[in-house]
Amino acid sequence: MTLMLPFDNSYARLPDRFFTRMSPTPVAAPSLLALNESLADRLGLDAEALRSDDGISALAGNVVPDGAEPLAQVYAGHQFGGWSPQLGDGRAILLGEIVAPDGERFDLQLKGSGPTPYSRMGDGRAWVGPVLREYIVSEAMAALGVPTTRALAAVETGERVQRETGLPGAVLTRVASSHIRVGTFQYFASQEDQDGLEALTAHALARHDQGAEGALGLLEGVVARQAKLVAQWLGIGFIHGVMNTDNMTISGETIDYGPCAFMDGYHAMRVFSSIDQHGRYAFARQPDVAMWNLAQLASALMPLIGDVEAAQGAIDRFPALFQKAWLEVYRAKLGLLQAEDGDSDLVQDLLKVMGEHQADFTNVFRALGTDAARDEFTDRAGFDAWEKDWRARLAHEGATPEDRREGMAAVNPAIIPRTHRIEQAIQAAVDGDLAPFQRLNAALAAPFADPGDFEDLTRPPTQSEAVPQTFCGT
Ligand code: AMP
Ligand code: MG
Repeated sequence: MTLMLPFDNSYARLPDRFFTRMSPTPVAAPSLLALNESLADRLGLDAEALRSDDGISALAGNVVPDGAEPLAQVYAGHQFGGWSPQLGDGRAILLGEIVAPDGERFDLQLKGSGPTPYSRMGDGRAWVGPVLREYIVSEAMAALGVPTTRALAAVETGERVQRETGLPGAVLTRVASSHIRVGTFQYFASQEDQDGLEALTAHALARHDQGAEGALGLLEGVVARQAKLVAQWLGIGFIHGVMNTDNMTISGETIDYGPCAFMDGYHAMRVFSSIDQHGRYAFARQPDVAMWNLAQLASALMPLIGDVEAAQGAIDRFPALFQKAWLEVYRAKLGLLQAEDGDSDLVQDLLKVMGEHQADFTNVFRALGTDAARDEFTDRAGFDAWEKDWRARLAHEGATPEDRREGMAAVNPAIIPRTHRIEQAIQAAVDGDLAPFQRLNAALAAPFADPGDFEDLTRPPTQSEAVPQTFCGT
């Protein structure tokens, strides 16, 4: 069975200084860990061909499929606030773009595919852990309705990767509506490359903002998408963990699932990443960080926008856009269809009591309206007082209780990718058992359904299961 991928590589047609053309580095003995058949269908790709020897060779980077024009993209970025003038795909190769049957264009990228000129001290590889983590979490995000890059496949390489210890290597096939980052614009701005900036802007407009005009139009589009995205993160207890400008997309998709985590017990300032020592990317700081990153994008685009006030105006709209999106998310979580003035306070009051008890974020919202919500709180008086206010507010709504329950269950997931479950799935996979990984993915594909047999996956970790810290995905 031969693999046919309908490539049309618009990024590869940009000037040479946008990337380094090169092929992935072949691996010793590729074998398939996971293939995302529903995503393959959505992209118009033949899952059977992807599963074939030819397919696995392509997904491992051993063979460059017909029509691909492999390259490593260059970018720059602010990492934890510090400026890095040159980053880039240090362990990834963009194979090219394919156009799905519905006309949508997607990047196909191999991650963990060997060293590139942008690898710095790294080996260009990934081990099975981060590859499966990204697979699980990015697919969970998609099922939760959050814009995200996707995972088409994970392949084990048959080679060891040296970390603290030797670990099995793997390659992820990432699908994204593009891999253009805030940091891509920063790279050309810092090179004082006006032509490069113009070419990149035109390319990004064509891919993400076809109705918009010029650099200002693009900036406004990114601001709007990121405001919505971060509001969605806050609505599901997601902490990205490494919101550097090179990890923020122009498309508005979540990218780079390194030290990310979903909170179990709620705390506004929760941090998981071992390298985020000052809590720069704590849960509740994410909107401020997004705005800071967008200001860096505005700076990078200034040579094209020209008008400082217009650029500033676009950035200044972020807080209101975020607040509006956030309230929409949380109104739905509380079963409120109409907007009333006190709604924001009502939400904040609940979050405050939840924070005092570190109540389980996901389970509280899923259980609102039943006794199970109350049981998430050690001292119930605070929650009871809030619930009384909530019931009073609900009395203003027209919906029947059944409709409300249904509406709330459609936005408050039962199952999220809890960190301890991800770690258990990775550990089992390293020991040769993929069943827990497959079961977790199956459950996460329907996060709003009644959990049924997956009830165990709704539970927060026991003390011995808890994973207090997460690590960058290298
Ligand atoms: P990240 O923290 O994942 O966003 O990565 C930051 C930068 O480090 C990017 O330019 C990556 O390409 C690079 N990088 C991360 N891990 C590796 C690795 N194992 N080998 C080479 N480059 C890497
Ligand atoms: Mg990155």
